[in-house]
Amino acid sequence: MKLKKPEDLTKIKKQGMDLLSPGNIRITVGAATCGNAKGASKIIEALKYQIKKKKIKADVVRVGCNGMCYAEPIVEVISAGKPRITYGNVTTENIDQIIKAVSTGNPVADLAMMRWDEEKSAVTSDVIKYAKGKIPKALEAIKESKKIPFIKNQKKIVSRNAGTINPESIEEYIALGGYSGLAKVLSKMSSKDVIKEVKDSKLRGRGGAGFPTGLKWEACNRAKGDKKYVVCNGSEGDPEIGMHRSFLESDPQSIIEGMIIAGYAVGAEEGYVYLNDRYLLGIERMATAINQAEKFGLLGKNILGSDFSFTLKIKRGGGAYICGEETALLNSLEGACGEPRTRPPFPVESGLFGKPTVVNNIETLANIPVIAIKGGKFIAAIGTPASKGTKIVALSGNVAQPCWAEVPMGTKIEEVIGVFGNGTANGKKVKAFQTGGPSGGILPAKSLKLKLDYDELRKAGSLLGSGGLLVMDEGADLVDMAKFFTDFFADESCGKCTTCREGVKRLQEIVGTIADGRGTKEHLNTIKRMGTALSDTSFCALGKTAAVPVLSVMRHFPKEVSDRMLKKID
Ligand code: SF4
Repeated sequence: MKLKKPEDLTKIKKQGMDLLSPGNIRITVGAATCGNAKGASKIIEALKYQIKKKKIKADVVRVGCNGMCYAEPIVEVISAGKPRITYGNVTTENIDQIIKAVSTGNPVADLAMMRWDEEKSAVTSDVIKYAKGKIPKALEAIKESKKIPFIKNQKKIVSRNAGTINPESIEEYIALGGYSGLAKVLSKMSSKDVIKEVKDSKLRGRGGAGFPTGLKWEACNRAKGDKKYVVCNGSEGDPEIGMHRSFLESDPQSIIEGMIIAGYAVGAEEGYVYLNDRYLLGIERMATAINQAEKFGLLGKNILGSDFSFTLKIKRGGGAYICGEETALLNSLEGACGEPRTRPPFPVESGLFGKPTVVNNIETLANIPVIAIKGGKFIAAIGTPASKGTKIVALSGNVAQPCWAEVPMGTKIEEVIGVFGNGTANGKKVKAFQTGGPSGGILPAKSLKLKLDYDELRKAGSLLGSGGLLVMDEGADLVDMAKFFTDFFADESCGKCTTCREGVKRLQEIVGTIADGRGTKEHLNTIKRMGTALSDTSFCALGKTAAVPVLSVMRHFPKEVSDRMLKKID
């Protein structure tokens, strides 16, 4: 059914609400990559079997990831008039208990992580409140548990649907306000109005460089071209991050809606979603989402009866780290070698196939429907003077709870590690951390008070990047960490410029020599000189920052480096 006017969304909204708040009980299972890796499919099978056997009227629904990757598989039970209950680390042995609890209405206290207070609807809304009053005794203890702040301390704006809706149901996305931003834009706003709202939001690109999104769109809108493009950067070649993968697997429609609005704002009628080829489930869910949007006429000609048309295609990239750089991504998208281009001209003037192109990453685009509905000032009211809105942060390394969470910009690193990561996995103190992926500096524990802020982290010798936060406890060997990242850059250098192609290989050899216990003071001086040369002469940020991890370890942990130089490893 093609939607011919904005009001037609109401019909789909009703269908979506019926799915989200059914007469039947709704049992959701976290089935993004993290949930699947921990056995979500077996849980679904077991739930369906028991429901059939016990003749319970319940629907079992696959949802995405709510950020609590450490607690997957997560099962939630939602029934009209009752609080939603979240169970974590569910195994097939727990299914009997959960099904019994579904029948009796009394949650399995030992297994329940959370009880939610949703007064009117069984589904989540923008603001989720933790239950107050009438909590069964056993759940009172759960309320006090350390796991609860995981939800309370987040500001879920971009990730509001993740882990709640079925990512393969456009109806559920629409039911929770999806595509109403697009409807508002197409029926009430000019392209200049949209750009003004994005500028007012002070949203900066969430891919790493932090360039103001509104200025980028304005430049593309002004650029002359018979054709323009919008490209979603879903390359995410950072090792061990995966939050964009999670988002893609959990709420692909919000990325599509953001891209359509971007197309309207800059004057583009075609878009490409460039995705890391390793993200098989994400690619599958994005393909389904595009098909559904086309079926409802939200992609294609004369969207919602307007004069605006927009089509979208998926392109799969090989996952090279360099293809996160927008011009290398565009080369890859054109079928050429993924190497960065000379700038200027910038992609907004001459991008894909030489046409004006806006490239935004997944998180940036997912902010757009919210800005369209609530206005730019809504985002601008959150965060620090230089960094507005929220940031999705992915925690990995020596943390008790590997996860991702959406927090206001300005949140302290120590809070992110303490509240969401629940400290270190083994209870040891944090020794160091790295923000922003492999190009970020490895900073000591005394820097834990730093805030998530583009400028503050840059001044401290690291960067916000796309939001990775790697935690290293007192047992971590930082020379090995420096070696790991130098090896990574040597592998990922695209080879276009000599300084990086040859220089990072030499750097790799020297860091390897130090790690082998054969380093000298002269090696350290050479690393410093090479760091300057790489930074001054490399063609792109990969080469410019390749020495940052090792230089930061030398600066903040000199004794650890000098001790290692004396410890020969045969
Ligand atoms: Fe390629 Fe490295 Fe040069 Fe960047 S700095 S263009 S990654 S060789």
